Amino acid sequence: MHLLDIFFPRRCVSCGKIGVYFCNNCIKKIDFIDRSICPVCEKPAIDGFTHPKCHSPYGLDGMYALAHFKGPVKKAIHLLKYNFVTDMAEPLCDFLVKGLPNTLPKFDLLVPVPLHQKKEKERGFNQSLVLTKIISKKLNIPYCPSILKRIRLTVPQADLSGRERRNNIKGAFYCAKSTILTDKTIGLIDDVATTRSTLMECCLVLKRLQVKRVWGVVLAHG
Ligand SMILES: [Zn+2]
Ligand SMILES: [Zn+2]
Repeated sequence: MHLLDIFFPRRCVSCGKIGVYFCNNCIKKIDFIDRSICPVCEKPAIDGFTHPKCHSPYGLDGMYALAHFKGPVKKAIHLLKYNFVTDMAEPLCDFLVKGLPNTLPKFDLLVPVPLHQKKEKERGFNQSLVLTKIISKKLNIPYCPSILKRIRLTVPQADLSGRERRNNIKGAFYCAKSTILTDKTIGLIDDVATTRSTLMECCLVLKRLQVKRVWGVVLAHG
């Protein structure tokens, strides 16, 4: 047992039971996504592959989301993001990695959705990078922490309507030209995708630099 566990014991995010972040009872309350959707039209799509008719050269090739953004997963992401409980990332990534369908393309590289420098300083860390590091280790896929940058501060997407979100995020990212991106299949990692606008915008920036495929990989959607 870690010394910290004595002073700050792990508690189930949902019921408060001491010892684990997700007790067996509350794991059952997680609303895992069992019907994958196409990231473009939101209609059901096998294993999250973008429908051929929805596919575009600079668009996402697919999306994997572990759960709906509610219940224990919502609480856990909140603890991770706002209460600095970074230990929370480990069990969440465990669920995510175990849930990945084996039909997904093999990712060459993982890239976290970046925070603006100012925001990252305020928070002390980028939660997407925390997740990316863990997933990278579990899947044995390299990650690139700094190639994609957020160059514009944006209003939190949750405060905006659908169309406003797309405009809000437009031009918010920059990616340095690099041969490590050429012809690669990239897993773009984020904690929550609400409307997928952020994933789409990152994807556009990456694909302009000869990235072959981009998949969004998120803990929660909706
Ligand atoms: Zn519980
Ligand atoms: Zn579609």
